This record gives sequence, structure tokens and C-alpha cells, in this order.
Amino acid sequence: MTESGAGTANPVVRDGDVTIISGPCSVESREQMMQVAEACASLGIRVLRGGAYKPRTSPYSFQGMEEEGLRLLRDAADAYGLLCITEVVDSEDIPVVDAYADILQIGTRNMANFALLKKIGAATAESHKPVLFKRGMAATIEEWLAASEYNTMQGNPNVVLCERGIRTFETATRFTLDITAVPVVKKLSRLPIVIDASHPTGQADLVPSVCRAAVAVGADGIMVESHPDPRAALCDGPQSLDLEGLRNLMVELQPVAEAVGRRLA
Ligand code: PEP
Ligand code: MN
Repeated sequence: MTESGAGTANPVVRDGDVTIISGPCSVESREQMMQVAEACASLGIRVLRGGAYKPRTSPYSFQGMEEEGLRLLRDAADAYGLLCITEVVDSEDIPVVDAYADILQIGTRNMANFALLKKIGAATAESHKPVLFKRGMAATIEEWLAASEYNTMQGNPNVVLCERGIRTFETATRFTLDITAVPVVKKLSRLPIVIDASHPTGQADLVPSVCRAAVAVGADGIMVESHPDPRAALCDGPQSLDLEGLRNLMVELQPVAEAVGRRLA
């Protein structure tokens, strides 16, 4: 069993709260980030996301704004008093991402990149900066939990697991969300777990239902991609909520959270 983030100074997850993490798939411009950050802050969302180094399936797709993207993410978070999270895809980038972000994300494609996991664990061993650790799209829960210990064993207990859908034969959605991962992880581990509602569906209109399920099933948080103009997004527009959609989502989740004795934060 791994050490828990619960009860420690983990700013992502607080007891009884459902932490909402939102923002675009990729940082694209200052205006985009400021608009999303303003919307998040006005809705009581505390964590802003935005990819600066993108692990794209095609090498010809937009690869991210790199350090300039990190700067825009940080500036937007600071302007509205938010925390920010972004993905590290290469161990060379750990110092620069660490310098800008409050939370480091490890994506599905790197769940089993043990050399990267060890380096991120070592880099955060003293700071205990939270690491959001996504499940590999073809990994069992046992493999995922075992891999999480590459981080925790280095001395950082603040790992937050993130279920983001796995590959199955189903093609109606982009991936298949394993909602049972939440109760299973709760049984096997003390690490908090959040649900990414965007990547498993691939479709914005399915996201609110998945979020309701995530709150009801006991997830410690939800990640949801949002964009001021999803049709113009350089990455994952079809699954991104626009800012009105994000507002509606927060309204819709409120009674579900209340029904299960949780607070959206
Ligand atoms: C992301 O959150 O931007 C991302 C790339 O997610 P995943 O690693 O789950 O595909
Ligand atoms: Mn994305």
C-alpha cells in the first residue's frame, strides 16, 4: 500500500471536496488562457489546466507552445488566484515545468515510462509537489498502482491517480471510462483518484453525464477540458466544453455533490 495524499498538504485534493480541474487541452494564446482562467475563477474552480508539451498521436499535429505556453498558463493562474497543472512528457523538461506549474501531470502514454517516473519522483521528493498520474490506456489497475510507487518511493506522497479511459473493442467513444476504477482504487490504495471526463468520451455532449457519475461514484476530483471556442481549438476541440457549457456543468453537478455529501471546489 502506498502513502496517501489525504491528510497531507495536498492542494489538489481536500477531504470531502470534489476538486474540479479545467482548462484547454493545449495552451494556445494569452487571451485564450485568460478567458478560461476568468471563467474557472468565477465558478469556484481552483485548478487550471493547459498542455504546453503535447504527446500527440501524429507528429504532424500541434506539439504545444513549450516554455512560452508554461508562462501563459502561470500568468493566467496567477491573474485569477488559481493553481495550475500541466504535463511533463520528457525528463529533460522536468526543471522548466517544475518552475512554472503547481502540479505535474504524467499522461497515459508515459504511465509505464519508469525512467521518467523515477526522475519526476526524485525531482519532487523534497517539494512534495502533487503529481497527477494518469492510468495507461492499456494498463490494469494493478499495473497502474504499482507504477505509482515509482513516484511515492522517491519520497513524494502526493500522487493523485487519474482514470482517463482504457482501450476496449468499443468504438462509440474515444476510450472506455472504467468507472469501477474509483471504488477499486479506494479499496486497494489510499491515494486520491480523479476522473478525466473528456478523454474517454471524445465528445463534449457526453462529458456532463460522465461528470455526474464521477461525483456520485466518489471521485476526489474531475478533470474536464474547456475552451473559449472549441471549434477553433488546436487540440481536442470536439471533447472540450465551451465556457457556457462549463458554467452549466457546475450548476448541474451541484445537486449531485450535495446528494452524496460532497462539495465542489
Ligand atoms: C491531457 O490531459 O492533455 C492528455 C494528453 O491526456 P491523456 O494523457 O489522458 O491522453
Ligand atoms: Mn486533451
